[in-house]
Amino acid sequence: MSLRLILLGSGAVRPVPGRDGPAQIVVVEGEPLLFDCGRGAVTGLRRVGIAPETVDRVFLTHLHFDHVSDLPYFILVTWVIGREREMEVYGPTGTKEFVQRSVRGAYEEDLRSRFGHGRSALGLDAQVTEVETEGTVLETGTYRVRATPVKHGNMPNLAYRVEASDGVVVVLGDVDRRQDLTEFVAGADLLLCECSGTKEFLEHPSRPWGAWHMTPEAVAELATRAGVKKMVLKHFVMEDESAIEQMGEEVRRRFAGEVFVGRDGLSIDLND
Ligand SMILES: [Zn+2]
Ligand SMILES: [Zn+2]
Repeated sequence: MSLRLILLGSGAVRPVPGRDGPAQIVVVEGEPLLFDCGRGAVTGLRRVGIAPETVDRVFLTHLHFDHVSDLPYFILVTWVIGREREMEVYGPTGTKEFVQRSVRGAYEEDLRSRFGHGRSALGLDAQVTEVETEGTVLETGTYRVRATPVKHGNMPNLAYRVEASDGVVVVLGDVDRRQDLTEFVAGADLLLCECSGTKEFLEHPSRPWGAWHMTPEAVAELATRAGVKKMVLKHFVMEDESAIEQMGEEVRRRFAGEVFVGRDGLSIDLND
């Protein structure tokens, strides 16, 4: 019995060395589930000892490029390496079209050349499920994944909740802090939450998109209301490392549970 989280990428849009794009793995009973697939995710999987072609289930929060830029590469390279099961991709409205255009559409010539020397299409085409309303998106004998729509600018956007016998992990993508997700997050043993920047940073007039994201105050308030035990901060838009550490301190001042400031490769075993 085991439930483990590995944060692959703790960064956001900009190419910050050491902080790859949003991506995380929840390992349930040995099965790695990938949530978002940002810049560096595939290499990140190898770095933490997970063979990318063994990841069969991918859950996308939304289609902002920082969260999905490695998905076409992930689909293509695991097909080439030799995927044994068809990949399942869950995501918001638009995911089917994104996958079609960014794989078959964008790489038409590449694919023609590979088919030309005899490679079969087996494992290339992901089964995509688009999720529009709150509910269970996947249920196996050992775990259940639920999703709910989350406000984030004008983007269709989802949050996920993994429920297993060993605990509950909630993965949030980007979140407009003016909404209340307490009910969906309630009782989580572990919450992965974006903390893009400080209030001053996100409220600066040069950042009209600032309200679509979480501040340390909003993160702490949500985790406290929802009775979360541990949380991991991620999706740092602010690049300054001392500012990131200070955001962690701000959350610790306001939330009594355990707070991890995310870094690439951070691994948390919920059975410890
Ligand atoms: Zn983002
Ligand atoms: Zn976003």
